[in-house]
Amino acid sequence: MGKQTKKELVEQGYRIYAGQELDVYFNLSMCQHSAHCLKSDHAVFDTKRKPWIVTDNASGETVTKIIDGCPSGALQYLWKEEY
Ligand code: SF4
Repeated sequence: MGKQTKKELVEQGYRIYAGQELDVYFNLSMCQHSAHCLKSDHAVFDTKRKPWIVTDNASGETVTKIIDGCPSGALQYLWKEEY
């Protein structure tokens, strides 16, 4: 399956955390609370902060690598050029 579009993600309940190079999408109802994302980079993922995801607090490469390791699919991303 290819990557989902913004419309598809939003329809499924993903929220958008916009950045300069890419946007991060998160769906709380899918999250398994494995804390993989939190352990990976606290500058980007921090549940004690609002918003809990700050996309631009690490490089796009770092952020996408972490998201690729999310076991549930609750985290997704779209690079700006993918829109
Ligand atoms: S890595 Fe994915 S499943 Fe694990 S806590 Fe983060 S968003 Fe939830």
